[in-house]
Amino acid sequence: MRIDLHTHSNASDGTQSPAEVVSSAAESGLDVVALTDHDTTAGWVEAAEAAAREGVALVRGIEVSCNYEGISIHLLGYLQDPTAPGLLEELERSRESREARAQSIVERLSRVVPLTWDDVLKQVEPGATVGRPHIADAMVAKGIVAERGEAFEKYLYDGSPFYESHYAPDPVTAVRLVRQAGGVAVMAHPFASARGIVVKDAVIEAMAAEGMAGLEVYHRDHSADGVQHGLDLAASLDLFVTGSSDYHGEGKPNLLGENTTDPVVLQQIEALAHGVKVLRP
Ligand code: AMP
Ligand code: FE
Ligand code: FE
Ligand code: ZN
Repeated sequence: MRIDLHTHSNASDGTQSPAEVVSSAAESGLDVVALTDHDTTAGWVEAAEAAAREGVALVRGIEVSCNYEGISIHLLGYLQDPTAPGLLEELERSRESREARAQSIVERLSRVVPLTWDDVLKQVEPGATVGRPHIADAMVAKGIVAERGEAFEKYLYDGSPFYESHYAPDPVTAVRLVRQAGGVAVMAHPFASARGIVVKDAVIEAMAAEGMAGLEVYHRDHSADGVQHGLDLAASLDLFVTGSSDYHGEGKPNLLGENTTDPVVLQQIEALAHGVKVLRP
């Protein structure tokens, strides 16, 4: 059984529609795929229809943006009730702040490159969570850079002169809200230091104390040392361990199924969740 618990569609910053992500998962030989768009569940319905058609099991999830003392971190939530008010309000607040923040990044960029907010809007599906990758796509469309990676390296990286952060809940609050929505909280790529500063173990301990259940240890942005540290920390905090691709379609080199999660861990996630069910064909 091959299980990939972290993917993105164009409901956030992936390049494929939710149905295409599920079709690609089937083609890649996955038995189970989770759709975990940034700060939205807008892709769930389309993904569910596609999963039934394609014969793949679907874990409906989300990747919640969090901010810990200025450090941006990500919390995966699985099988939560998408209508639970507490989480919903925080997600709405994050998405609204993301939009204002993206406009402000574009305003700064427009002083040095020919880029407008309209150019960016052309890259965003209606209702999707706006992120820096959409700005990158607009820069590719305008011929300013060749691909997303180059846009991040030159203009969009954390702390660049054009960078601005957005509102996001603190991670302990996010864990509480995911749990209150009946979901299971797993910290995404906790030691992905290549893409920015990571939080100290004490923050992860506080998240675990709030009921976070797992750590995404097997992820391409982790070094061998990062993986080992994740395994040790998970063991000491009694957290389960997942592995996932963080697939973004063409937007990143990450390939579906490049890391996978043990079926026993999926069983644990299902046993802990009481929001929605895994959809099985
Ligand atoms: P944001 O959520 O707007 O802060 O943007 C962060 C997102 O940008 C992450 O979720 C990644 O999907 C994406 N990202 C970060 N670095 C890169 C990169 N070098 N190439 C492509 N996408 C990236
Ligand atoms: Fe992303
Ligand atoms: Fe992430
Ligand atoms: Zn992700």
